[in-house]
Amino acid sequence: MREEYLHQIWKTKRLPMHDLQLIDGRKLTIQQVGWHNHESGPDFFNGSIELDGIKWNGNIEIHIKSSDWYAHQHQIDPAYDNVILHVVYQYDKPVIVNGEELPTLELKSYLDQNDWSSYDSLIKNQTWIPCEKSIHEVDELFVSMQIENALVERLERKSTQVELRYQLLNRNLQQLQYEVIAQSFGAKVNALPFVELTQHISLKILWREGKDAVFPLLLGASGFLEAELDEIHFKKWQKEWRFMVMKHQFSSMDLSTWKSKGLRPPGFPKVRITQFAAVISNLQSDFSIFMKSPEELLAFFKFDNRAFETIEGLKPLTISFQHSLIINSLVPLLWWYGNHLSNEIFKQKALILLSKIPAENNEIIQRWKNLGIRCKSAEDSQGLLELKNEICTNKLCLMCKIGNKVLGR
Ligand code: SF4
Repeated sequence: MREEYLHQIWKTKRLPMHDLQLIDGRKLTIQQVGWHNHESGPDFFNGSIELDGIKWNGNIEIHIKSSDWYAHQHQIDPAYDNVILHVVYQYDKPVIVNGEELPTLELKSYLDQNDWSSYDSLIKNQTWIPCEKSIHEVDELFVSMQIENALVERLERKSTQVELRYQLLNRNLQQLQYEVIAQSFGAKVNALPFVELTQHISLKILWREGKDAVFPLLLGASGFLEAELDEIHFKKWQKEWRFMVMKHQFSSMDLSTWKSKGLRPPGFPKVRITQFAAVISNLQSDFSIFMKSPEELLAFFKFDNRAFETIEGLKPLTISFQHSLIINSLVPLLWWYGNHLSNEIFKQKALILLSKIPAENNEIIQRWKNLGIRCKSAEDSQGLLELKNEICTNKLCLMCKIGNKVLGR
C-alpha cells in the first residue's frame, strides 16, 4: 500500500462518505475532505466530519498504519494538535492525544483490492509517464477534458502566487503588474533579480522621474552602469544615474545577482533589462492590462523599435519571447484579476490569449506529441506542461480523467 494512493482515495471521495464506522464503532460521516496540504503538517487542512451526530472541524492525517503516528513523531509536534481524524489503511496501535484515543478510520475493509492492484501496476511503469502504453486507447474527449483541467489548475496555482504578491505589495495594483511583468522578463534564471530590481526602482519612482529616466534608472539600479562603458547611450545614462543617486540616494544591485550562465547573448540580463525599460517607457502612467482587449494584449510587448533603434544592444523582442511574456505575466494576472473580482470575463480573456498563441516547443511538448496527443495552441501546451510536471510526475493517476479510463473505472 502507498500513502499517496490513500491520499487520492480520500481526496476523490472514493469511500461511502455517509456510511463509515470508526475503529471504536462510532458512526462517521465525512462532510468536507479538507484542503490537501503538500507542505509539512497534517495531510488535509480544514476538514469537516460528523461523529455520532456531532460536527467537528479540523485537520486530517493519513497513514498506512496507525503506529506511523509515533514513527513520524507527531506526538511531539504541535502542528498535529488540531487533528480530528486519523485515516489509516491498517489499525495496529491506538494513538493517544491529550489523554484520549484519536478517532481512527481504518480503510482496509472499504477499499477494492483489484483497484489498488491496477493502480499499483500502472504507477510502477518505468516509462516517461505511467500510462504511456495505454493512453492511445483513451477517448480523445477524456484526454482533452484532462488537459483543460490541468490548465485550470496551473492558472489557479499561479493566481495564488499573484494574490500573495498583491498582499505583500499592500494591494498596489500598478506595482503588481509592473513586478509580474518584470519577473517574466527574467524567465527562469533571472526572475528573482528582476523582482529585486522592481523593489529598488518602484513604478512610482519611474513615473515621478519621467519617461526619459526609465533607462538610466533601471539599468543603473541593476548595477550595469557601474563599470567603465563604451556604448554612447550607456555612458549618457551612467551620468544621469550618478546624478540621480546623488539626489535621491538610490542604491544599485550587486552585478553578481544576475546570471548569464547557460544563456545565449539575446537572453543576457543587460539585454533583457534594456528591453524591459523600452516596454515600460512605452506605457502610460495609469496603464492597466485588465482593461485592454485581447488584440491589444497580444501587441503589449511590441515596442516601436524606431524610437530606440540607435540604442546599442537594444533588439526588438522576438515573437516567441513576446509569447512567453504574455503566457507568464499577462495571462496569470488576468486569471488572478478574474478571481479577485469574481468576474469570469477576465478569465475568458486569459483563455482567449492562450488560444491565439501557438503551442510552446520544448522537450515535454514534443514527448506528448510523439504519444499522439494534439497540441495546437498555448492553451494545450500549458495544460500539458502542468499535466506532466504536477500530475504525472507525482503519479496522481486517480485524480486524472485519463487515469480513470486506463484503470477501467
Ligand atoms: S496522471 Fe494521467 S496522464 Fe499522467 S500518467 Fe497518470 S493517467 Fe497518465
